[in-house]
Amino acid sequence: MSKRIPIIAGNWKMNNTNQAAENLIKELKPLVKGARAEVVVCVPFTAISTAVKATKGSNIAVGAQNVAWADSGAFTGEISADMLVELGVKYAIVGHSERRTMFGETDETVNKRTKQAIKKGLVTILCIGETLAEREGGSMEAVLKTQIEGGFSGIGANELKNIIVAYEPVWAIGTGVTATKEQAQDTILYVRKTLAGIYGEQTAQTIRIQYGGSMNGGNVDELMAQPDIDGGLIGGASLKAVDFSKVVNFTCR
Ligand code: PEP
Repeated sequence: MSKRIPIIAGNWKMNNTNQAAENLIKELKPLVKGARAEVVVCVPFTAISTAVKATKGSNIAVGAQNVAWADSGAFTGEISADMLVELGVKYAIVGHSERRTMFGETDETVNKRTKQAIKKGLVTILCIGETLAEREGGSMEAVLKTQIEGGFSGIGANELKNIIVAYEPVWAIGTGVTATKEQAQDTILYVRKTLAGIYGEQTAQTIRIQYGGSMNGGNVDELMAQPDIDGGLIGGASLKAVDFSKVVNFTCR
């Protein structure tokens, strides 16, 4: 039995105005009360204040979907870790594949954002994942290794408690195609072994690794039954309270 506490995080992406955020959280709260997993909703920056207020006194924490690598200054469009912490944010997603493919995020910027986030006390959800062409072309392991080595560069073992890895095969994100439980387990085991190559086996066993990619109430149980899968990063299924609660309230483990 793993000692790693499961964590289910919703990634709302660019969805939900303040009113919609308030309604969704209001509906979600009673449905996830008493969950064994840590529960997080990563909301748009504009909905953070509303989400923090709406989750008050509940077991739902609020996360952001990105964080700047600098303290402050001439970084138009960026949001600093201090700004997030001031609002009550506890988690930040970094390096989501949509940021990597559409907004030029690289392993270097992911690394800088991660270092800044953990320095400021935010728990970072560091996303990695291969494309279908990379998986089918046989370069998946090399791609993941590069993302892990780049993302974790210069980060000490003592800082790992504030980093969660989200393994998200790009081909499974928002497509309705989920990795099979075997594919997810095998790849996440590879991710853990790669982390063990940097930090040692014992330390790698303490790092939480989520699966992400069309995870929902119908497949969560078989995915969460895998020994190396410690949670999920959930896009589409986090946008409806009932759907998200079904993922949060998985029945295995
Ligand atoms: C995501 O955006 O991180 C994600 C996994 O999306 P979806 O669940 O919709 O595939």
